[in-house]
Amino acid sequence: MDIQANLKGILDELPAGVSLVAVSKFHPREAIEEAYRAGQRVFGESRVQELLGKQPLLPADIQWHFIGHLQTNKVKYVAPFIAMVDAVDSWKLLEEIDRQGARCGRIISCLLELHIAQEGSKYGFSFDECREMLGNGAWRNLRNVTICGVMGMGTNTDDMRQVAQEFASLHDFFTELKQDYFAGDSNFKEISMGMTHDYPLAVEAGSTMVRIGTKIFGERIY
Ligand SMILES: *Cc1c(COP(=O)(O)O)cnc(C)c1O
Repeated sequence: MDIQANLKGILDELPAGVSLVAVSKFHPREAIEEAYRAGQRVFGESRVQELLGKQPLLPADIQWHFIGHLQTNKVKYVAPFIAMVDAVDSWKLLEEIDRQGARCGRIISCLLELHIAQEGSKYGFSFDECREMLGNGAWRNLRNVTICGVMGMGTNTDDMRQVAQEFASLHDFFTELKQDYFAGDSNFKEISMGMTHDYPLAVEAGSTMVRIGTKIFGERIY
């Protein structure tokens, strides 16, 4: 695996304005260091234990994204350093991130995860659940979170028309939320979609942030 060449290949073809989260879950510290030496600073992990094991051993200017399902009782462990929680899938979790952010004097960036796939991940708000949460307005009182946009995962299928449709639906939903709740809010700007097998489609559909693991680091060993 030539991690640096893989990284360069991806970065060279990503349009300006699309950022890369290098998904390093299940890969060792050495792999992350190699990507770091090539200039990558944003990494994604999906398990708290694994992240807590790696973070202290790696450079302090790494921006860690938590991309997996985060249990509310574990927020306190990542709150002191996490750069973004990419997959907020409940009001309870958003509230807890706010509470823990306040405890450590931080304002934590979050993305709202929408369930757009037919199959695969069971996590994420439905569009209606998300509308309902934002519609009741309580989120406006949270001082220690910033809602920076939306995140979603397409169905894991070879039917690229279906995946393209799912990405388009997330883009439309972002536009709706922007209009209805975040019109004057320049922080609300991210549409995080696209992984190794579908990121070109996601970019075409307006992704601003892709999350790529396998194409950089190789297959994960579970
Ligand atoms: C693992 C994971 C990725 C990266 O997947 P690859 O197929 O290895 O690129 C992206 N997003 C989430 C939420 C993940 O869990």
